Amino acid sequence: MKCRTKCPKSINKVLLKYFLLLAVLLTVLVEVVCFFFVKSSMDAQARDRLTHTGSEISAFIKTADEKEISEYMRGYAKDGINVYIVAPDGEVLLPFGATEGEWSGEIDGVINRLNSVSGGSVLYAENSNLNYATAVDYGGGSFLVASYSLKIIRSAMKVLLGYFIIAGVVVLLVAVLVSYTISQKLSDGVKNLSTTAVRFSKGDFNVNFANAEYKELADLSDTLNSVRDEVKKSGDFQRELLANVSHDLKTPLTMIKAYASMIREISGDNPEKREKHLQVIIDEADRLTGLVNDVLSVSKVNSGLDAINPKVFNLTEFLYGIINKFDYLQETQDYKFMVDIDANLYTRADEEKIGQVIYNLMGNAVNYTGEDKTVYISLKKSLTDERIKLTIKDTGKGIAKDELPEIWNRYYRVKENHSRPVKGTGLGLNIVKIILENHSFDFGVESEIGKGSSFWVDFPAVPEKIEMQ
Ligand code: ADP
Repeated sequence: MKCRTKCPKSINKVLLKYFLLLAVLLTVLVEVVCFFFVKSSMDAQARDRLTHTGSEISAFIKTADEKEISEYMRGYAKDGINVYIVAPDGEVLLPFGATEGEWSGEIDGVINRLNSVSGGSVLYAENSNLNYATAVDYGGGSFLVASYSLKIIRSAMKVLLGYFIIAGVVVLLVAVLVSYTISQKLSDGVKNLSTTAVRFSKGDFNVNFANAEYKELADLSDTLNSVRDEVKKSGDFQRELLANVSHDLKTPLTMIKAYASMIREISGDNPEKREKHLQVIIDEADRLTGLVNDVLSVSKVNSGLDAINPKVFNLTEFLYGIINKFDYLQETQDYKFMVDIDANLYTRADEEKIGQVIYNLMGNAVNYTGEDKTVYISLKKSLTDERIKLTIKDTGKGIAKDELPEIWNRYYRVKENHSRPVKGTGLGLNIVKIILENHSFDFGVESEIGKGSSFWVDFPAVPEKIEMQ
């Protein structure tokens, strides 16, 4: 994939980079610390041995003859320590056979150093040697000088450095290998998900996002699977809605066309018949409007575009306002609305959407109520004054127990009603459900076959003017 601005980084490369960086840092840190630790402990050991050797020989000189001292001094040579007794003029007195040349130091330097310290002995580095010097009781103001060649330490350190370099290279190789393995595993998982997502984007809803190896990827897979389900559901819904809506549009349109033709050809001159036929056209047009409104509302509430905008309002007045809109049914079609409404109840909710809820419930009660055409509406405060219960009850056929949970689903209509729909789309209660769920209000229905249904909503009661956030 080509990118124009900033290219995203590859997991493999980033992991490799950071692993190498970490490996180099750790290796250098560990090796530098080890190197200096080893070096300083070797230095300290050399100093100790030299001082110890010097003082041992000084003590030995007091008790032994020249030959023994000479042998004793040579004995240290195999440990890398050369010991000489030197006269103040630089002549090497002991061990026998040693020449001035063997001792590479300068006697003046030794004398000056000894004079500058108190305690009679001095330890100093000179010409790649570590020297210990002390005045000894060997006549003529002579000195004992013990020398340890620092070259031994240096070459040991060189060998150590060589090992460290090899170890460093091995650590880097291991880092490359580990980072490659991990990044490969990680990116394989991501690649699999991405391949599946491409298939999904091309419309294959049977894909399964699977990754159980890493928790984060497993979570992502779960999320993608639920996105797939949602997209599938929404696709199904749209197809189903389109099929149902177009089916439902056909009936009123056919009716409108048929009755319009009838008025033109038959009933145009007969006021009574014409009135009846015009009423059918008006009713069917109302059905169409209801259908279109429901489809618009359901797609709006489902898309979540319709955010809730709560405020405190007088629910009592609001309910009366909606009931008044149904007045024409009382006047023209003998409907009866029996109300039992407490005065001045305030709640906090999205007024417009609650209006839609009440309107849908009232509409259903009117549509499905029994022969007596009666609808009971009550709005009551709870005993604790904290809740308000709205109940809209009809005297219709009721809803069977097994249908009760279904009626809230999109486009669900109880079968018996569906064959000859009174008026409606099967979307009304779904809109009610989504709005009330978005408000977190309790709601429900109680229904008994042959006796009617009672839909209820539980509102919070709030004081009149307090606007809470
Ligand atoms: P519709 O637009 O068909 O009324 P709703 O979503 O409002 O759709 O209701 C879904 C179904 O629930 C209705 O088709 C009807 O079968 C049933 N229903 C809703 N309200 C009542 C009621 N008060 N009495 C009997 N059945 C009802």
